[in-house]
Parts: sequence; C-alpha cells; structure tokens
Amino acid sequence: MMTSNLSVLGSTGSIGKQSLDVCRKCGYTVKALTAFSSVDEIEAQAREFRPELVTLVDEKSAETLKIKLKDTSVRVLSGIDGVCECAALESADTVLNSVVGMAGLKPTLTAVRAGKKIALANKETLVAGGRLVMSEAEKYGVKILPVDSEHSAIFQCLEGKPSNKALKKLILTASGGPFFGKTRDELKTVTLESALKHPNWSMGAKITVDSATMMNKGLELIEAVWLFSVKPSDIDIVVHRESIVHSAVEYSDNSVIAQLGLPDMRIPIQYALTYPERYESPVDELDLTELGNLTFYKPDYDTFECITICRDAITKGGLYPAAVNSANEQANLMFRKGEIGFLDIAERVRKVYETIDCKDEYTFEDVIEIDKLARQMVRGD
Ligand code: NDP
Ligand code: MG
Repeated sequence: MMTSNLSVLGSTGSIGKQSLDVCRKCGYTVKALTAFSSVDEIEAQAREFRPELVTLVDEKSAETLKIKLKDTSVRVLSGIDGVCECAALESADTVLNSVVGMAGLKPTLTAVRAGKKIALANKETLVAGGRLVMSEAEKYGVKILPVDSEHSAIFQCLEGKPSNKALKKLILTASGGPFFGKTRDELKTVTLESALKHPNWSMGAKITVDSATMMNKGLELIEAVWLFSVKPSDIDIVVHRESIVHSAVEYSDNSVIAQLGLPDMRIPIQYALTYPERYESPVDELDLTELGNLTFYKPDYDTFECITICRDAITKGGLYPAAVNSANEQANLMFRKGEIGFLDIAERVRKVYETIDCKDEYTFEDVIEIDKLARQMVRGD
C-alpha cells in the first residue's frame, strides 16, 4: 500500500521534523500531528500542514494550543488517548511513530488494530512489547516498515531473499558514539555535555545518551529480533565509526550484502513511506572516493555492558526486555537531570535485570506494570 495520508506521532522531535520534511518533498498529506508539550512548534506545523487533528499529551499545553488555533478548523486533543485517536484516524493510511520511549507502544498497537501501515522509528515499541505488536500486526495484516537506519538497511538487504534457510546472520553496525575507545575509568567522570556530542548524527537527547552508553545498539538488537524473526545469537554487532554502512546481512554462501548512504535519517524515513518504490531524495549523493576509508572494530563489551544486558534480556525473553528498557528510560533521564553519573546508567539497568522477576507470557497491562516497577527500582523508592 502506497502512502498518501499520514499521521505523524512525535512530530516536533528530531525524526518527526525530518519526516515532515520528507512529506513536503514527496507531497504527502498530513492528517494528524502529536507531541508532548511543544506548543509553538506544533502550532507552526499545524498552520503549515492543516491537519484534521493535533494532540498534545500535556493537558495545559493542549489548552493553550486550542486557543492559539481557534482561527483554524484543526481539532485539538490531549493525553495519550488523543495520541491514540491520531493513530487510528480514519483519513490516514499510514502512521509514522516517532514518539520517544515506551509511551509509543499504545499508539503503535492502536494503529495496528486500525489497520494502518506503520513506519516505525519508536524502537521502544518493539523492545517493550515486541511479541504483542508482531502478533497483532500478523492478525490485522499490517506492515511494519522500519525507520531506524540499521533496520531499514537490513530490510533493504533482505529484499529478494530466496528463503529463510539462506540467511545466516545480520550484521548490525554501530557508530560507537562519542566515547568510543574510552576506558571505564575515563567514563567515570564524563559530563552530559560530552555525552550529547554524537560524532555523526543529530538526534533527540534520550537516544543520543543511549548511543553514548551503547544501550541504543542493545535496543536495536532486540528490535531486529522482532522485525526479522532471527535469534539474538544470529546478530553480530560491528563498530563502524563513519556511519556509512548502515548494516548488512550475511547469507549461507558467505556473501554479505550491505546498504550504504550518508548518515541522514531522511533516507530511511522516505523509504519506509515510498516502499516498494524509490523517489528522489533531498540527501546528497554518497561519494566513496571522497570518503577514502571505512573502518570496522569489535565492540568493547566490558566497557559498554548495556549491549550484553539487552542480548541476555531478549534471550531470556518474556518481559525481560521491557523491564530493561524501562530501567534504561529512567536511568537515562536521571543522568540527563544530573542525578546520577554516566556509569550508573548501566549499573542500574543491570541491577534491575538481575533482580526483577519477569513473566514469560504477557499482556499490555503487564508491560505497564513492569514499567512502573523497573522505574521504581532504578529510582530506589
Ligand atoms: P525527540 O526527543 O527529538 O522527539 C520525541 C518526540 O516525542 C517529540 O515530538 C516529543 O514531544 C514527543 N514525546 C516525548 N515524550 C512523549 C510522551 N511521553 N508521549 C507522547 N509523545 C512524547 O526524539 P527522536 O526524534 O530523536 O527519537 C524518536 C524515536 O525515534 C525514538 O524512539 C528513537 O529511538 C528513534 N530514532 C531516532 C533517531 C534519530 O535520528 N533521532 C534514529 C533512529 C531511531 P515534545 O517536543 O513536546 O517533547
Ligand atoms: Mg539506529
């Protein structure tokens, strides 16, 4: 199904804004927009795109927005239920979910049940509720197209795959983040400012810190398990500093196919929307001779232990990935608020993983319950 009418959830964020840029270039109609509390930004977006519906999760901000948009026909809602209404909006055929965190899970499930095509940037949706989302997607015959650059790369490399037997492994590339090559001792004292300086990508604060701890790669490993139905042990992680090779797949004949491009999220965002077609892109061409060299390294699993925690959590299965994800959301937030140090993030996530009791089978309500518990454990209350 080709995209023509979109709901963009998390439209004021880094991916949200780039998605709207793709909508402008490709001429898609935007039917709904959502954010948490960014009143001015979403007002400007609403005036430009004239959607039917806009939601701000924060009630007070939604009230302010309602007054600001009084002269338009745009309907304004609040709360996560408002986001879900945008996800199920009848006039939209596609939902691009670029909400940050597991708050995106309910809107994703709502969009799946409403039969929408999903362009998914919100990786926490699959980490926290992978089995729920994938089984509902199968039930409703809904396609989930990856926006995350690594998963878009793998998705592209798998096109034309003859059979499941032909696939040997996925090779997930990682930039290594701003602290590549640093020792644990050096990481004890790193500041938020240095953690927010990503070498290749400009992203929201949460994912930028996740890249610094390499939790992001652990979350992506779990995301790949769900999207591509592979075992965690069939996913290799390779540090690739230049972020040009966005990931690769290895087939049974040891032929490796990779997807390359400049590090600009508008390429994977656009492909999730135009698939199976390809349109012209606003992103520059890749000039390999200008790059000269591409480098690859093994990850330092002792220093960046979040990758191993995530691999262990998805191997154990059940609610463990959800617990680890929520623990990380809380610890990441506390680091950004200056309440804990950088190495405390992994330490607190590990503690939750090692001490929490998780079910094998779960419902959406179980995910919400484990989320509360994991956050409490990280806060220590
Ligand atoms: P940002 O922080 O830049 O944007 C997040 C968006 O979600 C904003 O619109 C924000 O609104 C909204 N939001 C925040 N909290 C809530 C909530 N509790 N409920 C509903 N909406 C909320 O994040 P990014 O764009 O960087 O990332 C979005 C998702 O995409 C993440 O899952 C991330 O892992 C994934 N991703 C991002 C990449 C990137 O390059 N940025 C690359 C690959 C994946 P407000 O502005 O009002 O706060
Ligand atoms: Mg990624």
